Amino acid sequence: MSILTATDLTKQYSAEELPALDHANLSIEAGEFVAIVGPSGSGKSTLLHMLGGVDKPTSGTVHLYDTNVFQLNETQLAIFRRRQVGLIYQFYNLLPTLTVEENITLPADLDGQKVPEKEITELLAILGLSDKRTALPTTLSGGQQQRVAIGRALINHPAIVLADEPTGNLDQRNSQDIMDLLRAANTKRGQTLVVITHDPDIAAQADRVMTITDGKLTGGEPDGDH
Ligand code: ADP
Ligand code: ADP
Repeated sequence: MSILTATDLTKQYSAEELPALDHANLSIEAGEFVAIVGPSGSGKSTLLHMLGGVDKPTSGTVHLYDTNVFQLNETQLAIFRRRQVGLIYQFYNLLPTLTVEENITLPADLDGQKVPEKEITELLAILGLSDKRTALPTTLSGGQQQRVAIGRALINHPAIVLADEPTGNLDQRNSQDIMDLLRAANTKRGQTLVVITHDPDIAAQADRVMTITDGKLTGGEPDGDH
């Protein structure tokens, strides 16, 4: 069953330039782990942002199940992003004045949801951050900061987790830890995982690899064996 579909998704940032993304068609199955690869500047982040509802396409549609994402109004779209999408970036994007716990619970807080204490404790333990609960991001290593970002992305149990080079700033050991956490969310919690990566080892772990070259997407449709 397809969870996320994009139809003729096109993004043109300016009239003088070629589209950053050119009529991309894709369908992602619930629970699938998809890697997106391609040269720098080929449109990978642009695609990911539109799949997560954080940037609007010039034309084309994104559907999460039956929801036509860009027909939502701004308020509905903000709720959609907080509840349905977990976003992870290369440089963590944590809020520097908030503690580890506050960063992690932010999407729930913004949503007026109180995360049960037990759930926070368990998530911190899974992330290996139990002793960092009240720490500020600047006191953490890169790998620890990325684990906070994963906690924030998972706190609302989103249907899809979108990660933009989540290990791009980390050494090999930390990279594998981060991928193990994302894989656990994917396999144990059934969350659909889309990861932009330059790392062939990570792409090799995916169920499917999509490639973007000059805004043209290939591998967007499942092979039929899902
Ligand atoms: P990738 O993630 O593959 O490196 P991007 O999606 O970031 O590629 O960028 C694709 C193209 O769109 C590039 O030419 C980039 O310069 C351009 N681009 C990306 N974001 C913006 C933006 N906010 N405004 C204008 N052009 C952009
Ligand atoms: P806005 O104020 O534009 O509606 P949001 O409420 O969607 O923004 O998000 C506020 C902050 O919370 C963002 O900086 C973002 O990093 C973080 N955030 C919100 N939702 C998520 C999510 N699902 N996964 C990760 N971070 C999120």
